[in-house]
Amino acid sequence: MVERVTELMDKPERIRNIGIVAHIDHGKTTLSDNLLAGAGMISEELAGKQLFMDSDEEEQVRGITIDASNVSMVHEYDGKEYLINMIDTPGHVDFGGDVTRAMRAVDGAVVVVDAVEGTMPQTETVLRQALKEGVRPVLFINKVDRLINELKVDEQEMQIRLGKVIDKVNKLIKGMNEKMYNEGWKLDAAKGTVAFGSALYNWAVSVPFMKKSGVSFKEVYQKCNAGEMKWLAKNSPLHAVLLDMVVKHLPNPIEAQDRRIHIIWHGDYNSSEGKAMINCDPNGPVCLMVTDISFDPHAGEVATGRLFSGTLRRGTECYIMGAAKRVNRIAQVGIFMGAERIEVDALPAGNIAAVTGLKDAIVGSTVTTLLEMTPFESLKHYSEPVMTVAV
Ligand code: GDP
Repeated sequence: MVERVTELMDKPERIRNIGIVAHIDHGKTTLSDNLLAGAGMISEELAGKQLFMDSDEEEQVRGITIDASNVSMVHEYDGKEYLINMIDTPGHVDFGGDVTRAMRAVDGAVVVVDAVEGTMPQTETVLRQALKEGVRPVLFINKVDRLINELKVDEQEMQIRLGKVIDKVNKLIKGMNEKMYNEGWKLDAAKGTVAFGSALYNWAVSVPFMKKSGVSFKEVYQKCNAGEMKWLAKNSPLHAVLLDMVVKHLPNPIEAQDRRIHIIWHGDYNSSEGKAMINCDPNGPVCLMVTDISFDPHAGEVATGRLFSGTLRRGTECYIMGAAKRVNRIAQVGIFMGAERIEVDALPAGNIAAVTGLKDAIVGSTVTTLLEMTPFESLKHYSEPVMTVAV
């Protein structure tokens, strides 16, 4: 697995950096855990206990995810392997700032909406945050089993209800950014940018996957109605449906940076760093934005961030842009495999990096090998109703 991950990190067209965003209790943790288990990164038994992303003691006590953690997995699509870097984002409103940080590091978002509850205020907040950062959304409508087995809706009513959720999310996207909506960011089940299913019972469906698997909408309804969840999980597995959608519809770092750099950085686009970031160039200067700082009992402070250009190497001297510019030397460069951090010799642009040695960096720092560089836009959190708080 280490070899597969390290091979893929050098191929940006095979990388997808994504976040999962949702209103609290809509099933983000269950989805994340089961995706990892399905991709073979953790045991299914462990995923069932939902201990993976919620490992922090405080989270266990409070029962909510508060630490944005990073995990990576490998997924095969159309005979090719892809590296999916997934940043967990807290669903609780108090932690909106963490969603903001995570959205800076990723290029795509899976928006999870509970089929019974529909969109909620935090669905709106996280969607707004994604669009502000130029992060492209796809939709997963979760807890469809409850529609069928608890609310006892018939097949036709189910389609109507799912259609209403899609319409509502589209209305939000259109209202927040009509340009993106018109440029193809409108969600469309027929095109495959919407999937629905049950994260809890480990199954999902999408129009493209139905064509591939031969499992029809009718069959899904009937099997769920009959409680045959294991059949559904086997024939229409959650991870396969969701990760196919991610690979096919969310941009790789080269495609994403071409657009996103113009949103998150306002320096000279014709400068060496401007061009390198727009092209996701591993040979350009190092331009890294720190989106998280965590503490590792062995390695000390670990700065996690998105590398937009250049290649990170052990020993590289970097400048931390800020009021007082400081020089720090990179001690270790790591990437994520499952939830573990593995050390690598060199990490190229387009990846999410975990770096030690950047002792003067804070969340939001711009780290570069250049003497001078316009820093990235500061991270701003938008909550509903529109209110801006700098974090
Ligand atoms: P989060 O707050 O978004 O991370 O939500 P969780 O993943 O913790 O899920 C909240 C609750 O909904 C838990 O009790 C889950 O077991 C339950 N849940 C999640 N997904 C599903 C689903 O697809 N079907 C049903 N029936 N329950 C689900």
